[in-house]
Amino acid sequence: MLSKLRLLRPPVSSGTRLISAWECKNYSDKKNSSEKNHRRKTTPPLIEVIKPVKINYSKRTKKNYEPVNISKREIQTKYNEPLTLCPLVSKTESCNNSNPPKSSHSPETLNPVSETNNEWQNGSNNKPYFKNMSLIGGAVILAGSLYGIWNSDILKLKKDDSSIKEIKKAKKSRKLIQIPALSQSIPDNVQYLLIGGGTASFAAFRAIKSADPTARVLVISAEGYLPHMRPPLSKELWYGDDSEMAKSLNFHQWNGTTRSLFYEPDPFYTPIEELASAKNGGISLARGWKVESINVSEKKVKLNDGKEISYDKCLIATGSVPKTLKLYNDASQDVKDKFSVFRSIADFEDLMEELNHVKSIAIIGGGFLGSELAASLANKGKKNGVKIYQIFKENGNMGKVLPKYLSQWTTEKVRDEGVEVVTNTEVENCSLDNNGEKVNLVLNNGKNISVDHVIMAVGAKPNTELAADAGLEVDPNLDGYLVNAELQARTNLYVAGDCACFYDNQFGRRRVEHHDHAVISGRLAGENMAGAAKQYKHQPMFWSDIGPSVGYEAIGIVDSSLNTVGVFAKGNPKDTSLSTNKTDENTTINDTDTPAELESKNIFENNYNKGVVFYLKNDVVVGIVLWNLFNRMSIARQVLKSDRCYKDLNEVAKLFNIHGDSS
Ligand SMILES: Cc1cc2nc3c(=O)[nH]c(=O)nc-3n(C[C@H](O)[C@H](O)[C@H](O)COP(=O)(O)OP(=O)(O)OC[C@H]3O[C@@H](n4cnc5c(N)ncnc54)[C@H](O)[C@@H]3O)c2cc1C
Repeated sequence: MLSKLRLLRPPVSSGTRLISAWECKNYSDKKNSSEKNHRRKTTPPLIEVIKPVKINYSKRTKKNYEPVNISKREIQTKYNEPLTLCPLVSKTESCNNSNPPKSSHSPETLNPVSETNNEWQNGSNNKPYFKNMSLIGGAVILAGSLYGIWNSDILKLKKDDSSIKEIKKAKKSRKLIQIPALSQSIPDNVQYLLIGGGTASFAAFRAIKSADPTARVLVISAEGYLPHMRPPLSKELWYGDDSEMAKSLNFHQWNGTTRSLFYEPDPFYTPIEELASAKNGGISLARGWKVESINVSEKKVKLNDGKEISYDKCLIATGSVPKTLKLYNDASQDVKDKFSVFRSIADFEDLMEELNHVKSIAIIGGGFLGSELAASLANKGKKNGVKIYQIFKENGNMGKVLPKYLSQWTTEKVRDEGVEVVTNTEVENCSLDNNGEKVNLVLNNGKNISVDHVIMAVGAKPNTELAADAGLEVDPNLDGYLVNAELQARTNLYVAGDCACFYDNQFGRRRVEHHDHAVISGRLAGENMAGAAKQYKHQPMFWSDIGPSVGYEAIGIVDSSLNTVGVFAKGNPKDTSLSTNKTDENTTINDTDTPAELESKNIFENNYNKGVVFYLKNDVVVGIVLWNLFNRMSIARQVLKSDRCYKDLNEVAKLFNIHGDSS
């Protein structure tokens, strides 16, 4: 069971929410799904499953992965800006380049040849015929030799290098798709304005439309893509043999059905020119457009081209941006070219492409993203012999979240996937090797690692760049826009998702960077924008899948610096007899266990395959991790809600029926 990667585990819902038609549809899809994929069959997801959409790509839009299931005429009008996503330069193209790089054809070396040519061409001199003939002969021989050398192995390498450089250039010159092309088409005033085209924004416009069916909603997204989810970018999209499917941003989810990364296909959105006049309102999207500033008192935003839009209600859902390392920030451009971050569809596409050209990648960071990517890239890179390193300062993968023993166990699983995991280590410096081909990472353990590419997965920072100008407060400790329990920063101005620092009734001020929180907070903000005045009460959960054998869900405060008690099913859950064995034979692990005690509990004998970990503050359970144990989130939620000291957590663990079917 564990060998099957869970494919986009849908977040668990609160009991009281409205289940809309699309959710019911998806729910019944799941009920009909095959037995072998029946994980979580009773939990309707919050996010719509889009029926496998047939997505075709026009040549011009292919690299942008823009669905073009619209007519050609529409493409011409919608894509009336030249799409300059450079095609990858092939070897032949780079050989035939009429503007060869300056370094290999400097004016100094060309000059003498041109002089000779001039003499030959204008025939104004009286040089003997044989001299001309010998020049021709010499030129032919030279050309022949050059051709030979060009095709020899010596230069083949160089040619490949130049095409890699061209790929890099192409990636850099990736031009953002802007639809509509001109801001005149965007309405001057709207009822609901949502800043951001991510998950929180998507959940908000769904909620607004449910509460106010004729609402006019305008979404402004800085990304050139339709609103989409991010979790499959580091997981599902890397698995499976169908690379075309990954390129079209479709993936198999846990129940075997195919799903698109995009929440809705293009035709779902009301053409922006029609939003103001549409009889039943609608949701329009301006993508590739950025809100530069908000004037809170005048209820107006300004776009990057200066266009102003006034609103009745506005949501800020600008998400987060990846952090980078100081050693990267201080590096020269040549070195920087070897580094990347990972958050967006464009990052995914670039990395997919990179995998075809490199032999080694180092991922810096041991958290969710670094660990998921390490396992996914090791799996994908196996065929091409790409070596994956993962370097981080903690003791083991997910060391800031998981108790030490579990984090170390996870690290062994990541190693089993073929990743060379380097723990307790920091990268101190970086430089290019003599050929400028590899980047040399200098580690604080005295060793060096030389790789073709480096990915920084060192956390994210909430995107609060609109705060200062708008006079909005940012939390000095947790970062993120400060909002109250109704997710309000000011009257008529709301914040949701990664960038919101909200008031949680149970645990106080928090900021959460997870999918479920983006859904829940986005939906609540949407409801409140439509007049509900509800308070944030739902505890967000999150999940992660690290390769095929580690998958977990968590809720509440899960911080490895807290005391924990873990209860794990004894033995190997692959042994089917266990699923019928209800004898509660568990191993309980406390943080205080010494290495000898852990040894006696047989920690390296697969005892952590399945279980539950309780996180305690003053003996009260404040967080729970369900380890390879699914469909138990509602129980975890109840335990958390009870907010009390439990004398024997082994007894509480029984509620989770660890030995039962975890599907
Ligand atoms: C690779 C990856 C994998 C993940 N996997 C998981 C997982 O397994 N489980 C989990 O719980 N969470 C996961 N997460 C986290 C989760 O995806 C985020 O918490 C979630 O996307 C946050 O949603 P959001 O709407 O707040 O922000 P985002 O999804 O980041 O959306 C923000 C949007 O705002 C736009 N924007 C920003 N500034 C402006 C502006 N000035 N004007 C206009 N638009 C603007 C951005 O372009 C973007 O479209 C993952 C994240 C990543 C990157």
